Amino acid sequence: MLPWRAGAGERADPYRVLVSEVMLQQTVVKTVEPRFHMFVNRFPAVEALAAASVDEVLHAWQGLGYYRRARGLHRAAGEIVRNHGGHIPDDVETLEGLPGIGAYTARAIAAIAFNRPVVPVDGNVRRVLARLAAIDRPATKLAAPIAALARKLESDFRASDTAQALMELGALCCRPANPACGTCPWERCCRSRALGLETSLPRPPEKIRRPELFATAWLARRSDGAILFRRRPDEGLLGGLIELPSSPWCGTNAIVEPDFGTGFALLPGSVRHVFTHIRLEMRVMTGQCETHPDGFFHPPDGCSTLALPTLTRKLLRHAGLD
Ligand code: SF4
Repeated sequence: MLPWRAGAGERADPYRVLVSEVMLQQTVVKTVEPRFHMFVNRFPAVEALAAASVDEVLHAWQGLGYYRRARGLHRAAGEIVRNHGGHIPDDVETLEGLPGIGAYTARAIAAIAFNRPVVPVDGNVRRVLARLAAIDRPATKLAAPIAALARKLESDFRASDTAQALMELGALCCRPANPACGTCPWERCCRSRALGLETSLPRPPEKIRRPELFATAWLARRSDGAILFRRRPDEGLLGGLIELPSSPWCGTNAIVEPDFGTGFALLPGSVRHVFTHIRLEMRVMTGQCETHPDGFFHPPDGCSTLALPTLTRKLLRHAGLD
């Protein structure tokens, strides 16, 4: 059983549901599960999360990516403690007003933790419903008919179980490539199954064309071996996380020399990283630097205590620092 789920006859812990639903927004269950354990061990209640520093939260979020979620969750915990007496709100509207909680997450928390009669529609549920009713439309035109179908399933009867059962059905039975229709409780009423369309619906989304950007990262060391880092702006991609200084990310694949330090030399090879909307290729130069107005130095053997995104870790590994 997933660690945030309640056993038969038990009520789910709203705090654990909140944390798990935010983690699951853009990350698969297999990745979330071990990190969920570590996160709730470190912050066992919403008060502990609200009292932590943002750096502690970002550090505990490492490996999950999309760090904006961690910052939103931290701010939401603060609001829950300040404005709701430490109780997670139990209705969709108030939940949606919290930082980082969108329409889907609000409905998932309301249904799973509070048995509210709403059906949250994630990718798995969207696929189940599209197949169930054999909705043959482009991916961009699915939202309205799926929402209408989900509303028909809303009921006061075991709303929490219904929401979770739909999610499970999509994850384990109505799988994207190879649906196990023979074991599906809806096989007899599924229109796609009757029409032989279960593997062709829903129609696949158009492929995303990600622009490719390039940059040069500068790994500068002080004479005592400490590495120069800088913090990214709070807003935008990898907001507030720590990185190696680098040239701006741009469409030109040219090596850029730093305007600080000395003795910089280019390492062979490059580091590639794919974000949701861009592909990035970085070259790495190493050199020396004693001071920097916008950065800070950190000893290399203490890097595990920093909130470093995967890209920065890849760059450090590329330079032989793991
Ligand atoms: S019968 Fe097959 S396609 Fe239809 S809902 Fe069940 S698993 Fe999905």
